[in-house]
Amino acid sequence: MSYLIPTTLEDALDALSGPVPVAVIAGGTDWFPAQGERAYGGTLLDVTRVAGLRGITPHHDGWRIGAATTWSDVLHADLPRAFDGLKQAAREVGSVQIQNAGTVAGNLCNASPAADGVPPLLCLDTEVELSSLRGVRRVALGAFIAGVRQTLRAPDELVTALYIPPLPAGARGGFTKIGGRKYLVISVAMVGAVLELSSGRIASARVAVGAASPVAQRLEVLEQALVGADLAGALDQVTPARLSTLSPISDVRGSAEYRGEAVAEAIRRTLKLIMEGPSHG
Ligand SMILES: Cc1cc2nc3c(=O)[nH]c(=O)nc-3n(C[C@H](O)[C@H](O)[C@H](O)COP(=O)(O)OP(=O)(O)OC[C@H]3O[C@@H](n4cnc5c(N)ncnc54)[C@H](O)[C@@H]3O)c2cc1C
Repeated sequence: MSYLIPTTLEDALDALSGPVPVAVIAGGTDWFPAQGERAYGGTLLDVTRVAGLRGITPHHDGWRIGAATTWSDVLHADLPRAFDGLKQAAREVGSVQIQNAGTVAGNLCNASPAADGVPPLLCLDTEVELSSLRGVRRVALGAFIAGVRQTLRAPDELVTALYIPPLPAGARGGFTKIGGRKYLVISVAMVGAVLELSSGRIASARVAVGAASPVAQRLEVLEQALVGADLAGALDQVTPARLSTLSPISDVRGSAEYRGEAVAEAIRRTLKLIMEGPSHG
């Protein structure tokens, strides 16, 4: 096995452009466990030392999250309250050790239906930047994850950053994860939301659910129904019909029926969390 640790983007993209497939890793917290007992004989490209790839910075009235940004970086960043859901997800990804090594971009590229970062990032209208020697392109996160463990990334492309467009003034985020225990658990279901509030009522809503369909999804019918509602009214809008685009499965972590109930409960908890939270700060 050869292990490459480039320090420039050019060198990293150069390594990916050859005829031999190269496996990319950041924290390696998904990649290494996935290898199981197999000995890997190929080339590994570690992106964590590439200049400019780590950190969260303002960008054109929105935000840029570099691809080597860890969950701990998210937790320690000074961000508007619309990011509260992403921060809450960061707090619940594995343990502190996993949060120190694991990256937000790695979570997306792994494309697990249970990836905790996807719902909050869908609610932030995130775009994924893909770079290669051929050029740079941006893809909406909802399109980037194409299926279970499938993304639109071509073999010669590196995810270099996530871009979050300008957010509605005063928007607040929230996240709820439901699992078999409180910490170090794979989600049975999780919900991210970003709400814009005006006089205690919802002016605009973004709600996304993970682990209840092959790819996490925004619930647009529910989002529209929530507009104008106060908290009591919002909780009443969470009906089975408005969750019908989801397709929860039965597995070792719970039955499809339980998952369906868990999603509805997680949405209600997230709405309460945001709408009952402090109005500023
Ligand atoms: C004990 C444990 C607990 C965990 N708990 C959780 C949890 O609670 N919630 C959760 O969502 N996840 C959890 N995970 C999974 C994992 O930690 C996260 O998904 C993490 O964010 C992955 O980031 P990484 O940098 O380690 O990815 P890596 O393992 O380095 O990479 C993951 C995938 O992304 C690709 N990749 C990484 N970076 C790039 C890039 N820049 N460009 C292109 N491709 C790239 C890799 O090729 C690989 O396919 C857990 C893992 C462990 C081992």
